[in-house]
Amino acid sequence: MCGIVGYIGKTNALPFLLEGLGKLEYRGYDSAGVALLEDGKLKFSKAKGRLDVLKGKLDKEKISGNIGIGHTRWATHGAPLDKNSHPHLSKNNKIAIVHNGIIENYHVLKSFLIENGVNFSSDTDSEVVAHLIEYYYSGDMLDAISRTVEKLQGSFALGIISSDHPDELFAVKKDSPLIAGIGEGKNFIASDIPALLSETRDVYLLKDGEIVRLTDSEIKIYSLDKKEISREVFHVDWDIDAAEKGGFEHFMLKEINEQPRTVHDTLARHIMDGKVVFDNLDMLSALNRVYITACGSAYHVGLAGKYVIEKLAGVPVDVWLASEFRYAEPVVSEGDLVILISQSGETADTLAALREAKKRGAKTLAIVNVAGSSIAREADFVVHTLAGPEIAVATTKAYSCQLAMMYLLAIYMASGKGKITAEEEKSLCSQLLQLPDKIAETIKLSDTLKEHAKKHYNISNAFYLGRGIDWCVSLEGSLKLKEISYVHSESYAAGELKHGTISLIEENSLVLSIATQKNIFDKTISNIKEITSRGGYVMLFLPDGMEDGGEADCRIYLPETNDLFSASLSVVALQIFAYYVALFRGCDIDKPRNLAKSVTVE
Ligand code: GLU
Repeated sequence: MCGIVGYIGKTNALPFLLEGLGKLEYRGYDSAGVALLEDGKLKFSKAKGRLDVLKGKLDKEKISGNIGIGHTRWATHGAPLDKNSHPHLSKNNKIAIVHNGIIENYHVLKSFLIENGVNFSSDTDSEVVAHLIEYYYSGDMLDAISRTVEKLQGSFALGIISSDHPDELFAVKKDSPLIAGIGEGKNFIASDIPALLSETRDVYLLKDGEIVRLTDSEIKIYSLDKKEISREVFHVDWDIDAAEKGGFEHFMLKEINEQPRTVHDTLARHIMDGKVVFDNLDMLSALNRVYITACGSAYHVGLAGKYVIEKLAGVPVDVWLASEFRYAEPVVSEGDLVILISQSGETADTLAALREAKKRGAKTLAIVNVAGSSIAREADFVVHTLAGPEIAVATTKAYSCQLAMMYLLAIYMASGKGKITAEEEKSLCSQLLQLPDKIAETIKLSDTLKEHAKKHYNISNAFYLGRGIDWCVSLEGSLKLKEISYVHSESYAAGELKHGTISLIEENSLVLSIATQKNIFDKTISNIKEITSRGGYVMLFLPDGMEDGGEADCRIYLPETNDLFSASLSVVALQIFAYYVALFRGCDIDKPRNLAKSVTVE
């Protein structure tokens, strides 16, 4: 999830590019880079690390030019290194591109280009774009870009300059954000509005499959078949703070809304032709025991992972809180796999658990969101979630991507062990690929969930119940509510309630019950009846098409999916409910008291 900017005008582009990138650093800060055209010559500078590192480099290099593009990177393909930083140049060094997104078929394109004599300078997916544009170029940039885009699968917002076109800046968009800003004697592109606000509030909101050609005096938008498109000017009237959140009131709400895309990215990278693919994870099919260790929400992902891995692959899974695992003298040994889950890859307890597991001879596999983090570096194997930078302290999109990764690993393990047929794998993959759209449908329940939150926000206690995977989700829903709204809540396995906890239920106690598992649906409904008989108020989360026979007080219908994957939908509804309870209570949602984003202390 990088940020891109571009400028064309009569003065030096560099100050705008650097200021714009500063406003987009929230989108990633693995590296930064710029390319400018100076007297028709392409100059560039890039460096791993934050924007300040690039600025320091530019103080010495002194490049300038009246056209330029810039990039701040959140690495998806290729480690955060100088060579993988954007811009990327074509073979003849005439074309420079910056890219936000993922070119899903870059392997195929890269092989094709290598066969045609191209040497690659980076490990990124993005570099293929620069070479392809050069390959298709025969005097007409619009044509070369359009032919290149036809070959690309995945998501992209691209900024493009060429020394053969010193008075033009190009950009193109599909499934990654991109806007064009209208100035006087200068025009701009950017991934997001905050990058432009110092220069203009008049923008064109670009749509998927559109190419834009900018000069210092005009902006023209074209379809992929090079027909000009007219677009109304959009006037931005948000204040700067709102603009950084993409118009959402909080980063948490923005990140909740980003889940369809980030889950898609995480899944699509590892699903090819109806199969789950991972590089170098063949050892997963030889395992007899798996341990999962993590903290907080990532631990809840681990619990859900246990259900899915045991069910699909038939491998026993132990799930440990990392803070316990590290001191428990766990009985792990050679031949076991320990999976560590951490958004930041820096969680101190999880890092210590990783070291403990390695000391005991186990293999370690890290699921991290931040490439190059300590856990990623130290683990034997690493897989990356593609959630992009998460700013709100309470996780939403990173959790959902970790869960998606768990499904992928479970299917991969099951397939490697011969526990599922190729047909079953294909069907599971196809159901997984439908999840992003179903998450988007779940997000459409926001208004309903807001109404429920408005009704209940004054509560001092809440209970979350579920069985099986629903219980894992209820743990996460309960944590979300506690973290951001400061309402005390507890989560219980629904069948456990009568073993003591039911004494807490009194008139109007709020109970959120999740019942998505069809084989145990009726059991959960019986537990609901036990609660409503004692005066408790039950909000039931159930799949479309299921009926509770009127036992609950209200129902939230979730899109139907495979029982194994339902957690990806119910959790989103619980995130939204917690968000609105916190909003009505006037809490500091993105920075809840006493909490920090990445817990790097014990
Ligand atoms: N896939 C590109 C890279 O890893 C762009 C990353 C992004 O937009 O997140 O360099």
